[in-house]
Amino acid sequence: AKSSGRNQFCFYQASAGQQNADELKLEQALREALKHQQLQLHYQPKFALASNHIVGFEALVRWQHPQLGQVSPGRFIPLAEKLGLISTLGEQVLQQVCQQQQQWQHLALPVSVNISALQLADADFVSRLQHIVQQAGIAPGLLELELTESCLIHEQAEQTLNQLTQLKALGFKLSIDDFGTGYSSLSYLRRLPIDTLKIDQSFVQDLPGNISACQIASAIIAMAKALGLDVIAEGIEHQQQLDFLLQAGCDKGQGYLVSAPRPAQDFTKALSAENY
Ligand code: C2E
Ligand code: CA
Ligand code: CA
Ligand code: CA
Repeated sequence: AKSSGRNQFCFYQASAGQQNADELKLEQALREALKHQQLQLHYQPKFALASNHIVGFEALVRWQHPQLGQVSPGRFIPLAEKLGLISTLGEQVLQQVCQQQQQWQHLALPVSVNISALQLADADFVSRLQHIVQQAGIAPGLLELELTESCLIHEQAEQTLNQLTQLKALGFKLSIDDFGTGYSSLSYLRRLPIDTLKIDQSFVQDLPGNISACQIASAIIAMAKALGLDVIAEGIEHQQQLDFLLQAGCDKGQGYLVSAPRPAQDFTKALSAENY
C-alpha cells in the first residue's frame, strides 16, 4: 500500500509538472501570436427570426497555432487576462473588425465585439477605441460592444457607468452578453445606457421542452420590451427553439441553425447577392 501511495504521488508530481510546462508553452505561444498579430476573426451572422435576413454579425476571435492546432478562446482569453495581455489582444480584435467594416461599409450592418471586463476596466479603453475607429473612418454606430454582467457589476460600478455613458454618447452600441446568468438588478439595469440584451445560450438550449427555460426566456424578452431594449437570442440550433422565441416576441437570433461563425469572405459573396 505504501509503495503504491508513493507511485501515485510520483505520478501526480509528474502530471502537475507537465501541466505547468504546457501552460508555459501556451503562454509563450500567445505572446508570440500577439507580437506577430496572428489571431484571426470569424463572424457569426445575427438574423431576423421572421425572415432569416442577416441584420449584423458577432466577431469571435480564433487562434490557429502551427503546432498546438486550434486553441479555443475559452482557453486563451482567460490566459490573456491573467497575463495582462487582454487589452493588446482586444485592440488587435478591434482593429481587424474596423478593417472588415471598411470592406463591408456599403452593407451598413453592425458588427459586435466581445469586450472583457479587464479590458473595459483599463482607464484608456474609451480613448483608444475612439482612436482606432477614427483611424479606420468607421461610424461608431457600426460597432456594438458586448459586455457581460460581470463587466458591469463590481465595486467600480459608478466608474463603469460613466464609461458606458461616454461610449454611448460617442455613438457605440452596447449590449449585455449572456444575460440571465449574472446578477444585474433591475434598478441597476435601468440606469445603464444599453441597447440590447442577449439571452444566454444555456436557456435557448433547453427550449421549448423545459418549462423554466421557457419562462426565463419569455421574462427576459418581456423585460427588454418594457425597458425599450432590443433582445437577441444566442445559440439557436433547432427550428423549435426559433419558433418558441418568435412567438414569445423575440425578433433576432444567432446560432448554428442559420450559421456557425465563419471567415468574413464566406459572407461577402452571399451578402452582395442578397441585394443590400
Ligand atoms: P460568447 O460571446 O458567449 O460567444 C458565443 C459562443 O457560442 C461562441 O463560442 C460561438 O462560437 C458559440 N456558438 C455560436 N452559435 C452556437 C450554437 O448554435 N450552439 C452552440 N453550442 N454554440 C454556439 P467561441 O467562439 O468559442 O467563444 C467563446 C467565448 O470566448 C465567447 O462567448 C466570448 O466570451 C469569448 N470570446 C470570443 N471572442 C472574443 C474576443 O474577441 N474578445 C473577448 N474578450 N472574448 C472573446
Ligand atoms: Ca458574445
Ligand atoms: Ca454570449
Ligand atoms: Ca458565453
